[in-house]
Amino acid sequence: MDEPVRRRIGQDLCRRRHAVTGVECHLPDTHYPRPHQALDGECWHDGLCDKCRGGGTWGSTTCDRCNGVGFTLIAVD
Ligand SMILES: [Zn+2]
Ligand SMILES: [Zn+2]
Repeated sequence: MDEPVRRRIGQDLCRRRHAVTGVECHLPDTHYPRPHQALDGECWHDGLCDKCRGGGTWGSTTCDRCNGVGFTLIAVD
């Protein structure tokens, strides 16, 4: 029985960009549900942008809610 190609855990990075500062998450993509974290220590939670639905564009322009990232920040206590 063929198994699907396994992702190389620990080598594939999340690389999610912060919707405001644009810094990249440097954690492995297995970090969920922990927050994203940049190299400078900044942490954040985000979710699919409800304006562009993750596409990063609104009409023919960059989505102004997520700055083209496709995700918006979620405030977590
Ligand atoms: Zn991340
Ligand atoms: Zn958006």
